[in-house]
Amino acid sequence: MELRISEVSKVFPSHDGGAVVRAVDSVNLTVADGELVTLLGPSGCGKTTLLRMIAGFEDPSEGDLYFGDRRVNNVAPNRRNATLVFQSYAIFPHLNVFENIAFGLRLKGLKEGDIRSKMEKVVHMVGLGGMETRRPSQLSGGQQQRVALARAVVMEPELLLFDEPLSNLDAKLREQMRIDIRRLQKALGITSVYVTHDQAEAMSISDRVVVMKDGRIEQSGSPVDLYARPRNRFVADFIGKANFLDGTASEGGVILGGKSYPMDIAPSEVGEAQVVARPEALVLSRDEGHFPCEVMRTTFLGNLVEYEVECPNLGTLTVHQVNPMAGELFRPGESIQVSLRPETLHILEKE
Ligand code: ATP
Repeated sequence: MELRISEVSKVFPSHDGGAVVRAVDSVNLTVADGELVTLLGPSGCGKTTLLRMIAGFEDPSEGDLYFGDRRVNNVAPNRRNATLVFQSYAIFPHLNVFENIAFGLRLKGLKEGDIRSKMEKVVHMVGLGGMETRRPSQLSGGQQQRVALARAVVMEPELLLFDEPLSNLDAKLREQMRIDIRRLQKALGITSVYVTHDQAEAMSISDRVVVMKDGRIEQSGSPVDLYARPRNRFVADFIGKANFLDGTASEGGVILGGKSYPMDIAPSEVGEAQVVARPEALVLSRDEGHFPCEVMRTTFLGNLVEYEVECPNLGTLTVHQVNPMAGELFRPGESIQVSLRPETLHILEKE
């Protein structure tokens, strides 16, 4: 089912006589059938409010919400055929795994045989096979989250909504759950909207990421798109690390720190240009002829080394040396040279 959000805004009255809060501001977004779209942004950007409007827990102040062809603005949450999975698992402590997952099916009045057959499939899909008779207190946090997930998908909703579902879990478990949610969502093909403020989570789980700020959409695109071609500084900074270099663009290339780099330049980009260079787009070496710099900080992270280097022509830069075990490590205080890989440079839109 396609979800369409058309010119939706949410205005909250002020509590203290101050200005009203425009939590969501004229948002347009279409989520295709079977697509998983993540709303990503800092605290207060309006992502939870937007999700709650989709679920039906908040009414939009302006605009329309469509589930397929059906306008759902005035449809109660329990009649929307959308289920919400959130971080406080909301599972019943006195019911075992089976009864927790079957809860909604029983409310709907399904026959025991139908409940059993639906349950069997879902319990195995979420990796809870053999745990049906356990109580929530006998489950790990990750397993409890799986119960919540199973309880949502067993209802076969047209829309799955996730509100920071993994924020209670430790880092390793979170990574595993991302993979599992992604696999399950693709297997079932349920249109999904996922809210998080964690960019790594958004990148790893989504078909498309929507970056929000101050109630508005800053940019929407595939994870690769947003990383390689952020529109502005906010998006570039929010999605991974970024160096910003001042340059001059003309037809055929850009000049950075006095050196010329060939690039495809659109007419609108000609003139003063702000260029994004991701940390792995910069290369450190002892070869002459590049930008001379001094290493200020070296941080070994296993799969990569992060350097902070100070370059008279370019400023302070963050550099990632990938596969560090295969190369030479540089120490703070060392003089080295930095070169740029032109194919990875990207020009921001003029503000
Ligand atoms: P977080 O990640 O911290 O949950 P968020 O991006 O989900 O943040 P929202 O919870 O959607 O942001 O809030 C957006 C803005 O609307 C904030 O400024 C918030 O203070 C305000 N807001 C949210 N709910 C209400 C409410 N019920 N009454 C008044 N203001 C509200």
